[in-house]
Amino acid sequence: MYNTIPELTPETIARFWNNVEIKGANDCWNWKSTCNYGRFRINSKCYYAHRIALATIGLKSDVLMVLHDPLKCNNPRCVNPNHLRLGTSLQNGRDKITVGNLQGSKNSQATLLESDIPIIRLLANTMSNVKIAKLFNIGPCAISQIKRHITWKHVIGVATDAEVAEFLRTGTSVPFVLDFQI
Ligand SMILES: [Zn+2]
Repeated sequence: MYNTIPELTPETIARFWNNVEIKGANDCWNWKSTCNYGRFRINSKCYYAHRIALATIGLKSDVLMVLHDPLKCNNPRCVNPNHLRLGTSLQNGRDKITVGNLQGSKNSQATLLESDIPIIRLLANTMSNVKIAKLFNIGPCAISQIKRHITWKHVIGVATDAEVAEFLRTGTSVPFVLDFQI
């Protein structure tokens, strides 16, 4: 499912952590680039930074997703291995419910999920930025940037009508496997 991460040399590991704002053990360590889901290149192949972060402590899998531990953080830019774990898409869905319960769904602090993006792109065909922004409790500028593929450009595709109907009914998008290799 995922590209196998090669053995990481000390040089590669050092180069990786150079891209990270390392703080205390329990703090979020943000990937320095503006992209939420940073990528890191090894031998001309790109890997998601989260996957490399776990690999630095020996946790690798070709089939499991890398998830943020919902009890520790829900920060897409965070690559602190203490805040990450390997898991299935089912666990990802459960984590999302946990995050929802912790934060209150779609509150003003809410961050978008990857699975929201294809829905936003479809809604944008028929709905104003302001209306979509209200649905997701974010600013209209953020919607505009998503539509123009300035942000979240790693999320490809547009939702189906059925997925949008489900979102409008339940107020939540169905999480999907978002991690991929290029
Ligand atoms: Zn974190």
